[in-house]
Amino acid sequence: MLIDMHLHECTCSPDSHISLEQIVTIAREKGLDAVCITDHDSMGLREYAAEYARKTGFPIFVGVEYYSLQGDITAWGIDDFPRERIDAQLFIDQVNAAGGFCVSCHPFRNNKRGLEENLRRVHGLHGVEVLNGSADMEANRTALRFCRELGLQAIGASDAHTTGQIGKYVTWLPEKVTTLEDFVAQLHTVRTRPAIWTGSGYDVVDTF
Ligand SMILES: [Zn+2]
Repeated sequence: MLIDMHLHECTCSPDSHISLEQIVTIAREKGLDAVCITDHDSMGLREYAAEYARKTGFPIFVGVEYYSLQGDITAWGIDDFPRERIDAQLFIDQVNAAGGFCVSCHPFRNNKRGLEENLRRVHGLHGVEVLNGSADMEANRTALRFCRELGLQAIGASDAHTTGQIGKYVTWLPEKVTTLEDFVAQLHTVRTRPAIWTGSGYDVVDTF
């Protein structure tokens, strides 16, 4: 299955210009099987997303993009997140205690919100966004190098805030899943691969 694992919806991410309806429509047009909503320090869309997923039959998994003291981390399979900024390691520990899955997003993007070298210091992180739609290719290639060095899951995600960015990069998983629980379980057990939108379909890649 192909899934965009990092999207911002305008209700709970004030810097986003896209609605859930637009996300699902465009994701379907591009042939995606599911999407994730990872709003900035918010999981407020959970109820509406569950209702909309039921109505449309399109899986929507709500996680969070949590801004830790060392940078942004996306996470799934947690009931809640800290309202204050805490150390990345403490947040990662909380995600693991809940059996969740967490990813360093855009670790080397030039906006000072990535974990950067802290990637080597934290323990228990599961994945790295090696292709992030808002980071340049040099930053993405550095992320890929770190991801390989650390033996973490390689994640592709658009980080879309506008419609044109939706599905630019996505993640490939071997099995189709429809629930958040099955999604998290699969992330923990299979090898994920990033994929790139070509204009007419997706190329699943191991290097770029
Ligand atoms: Zn983001």
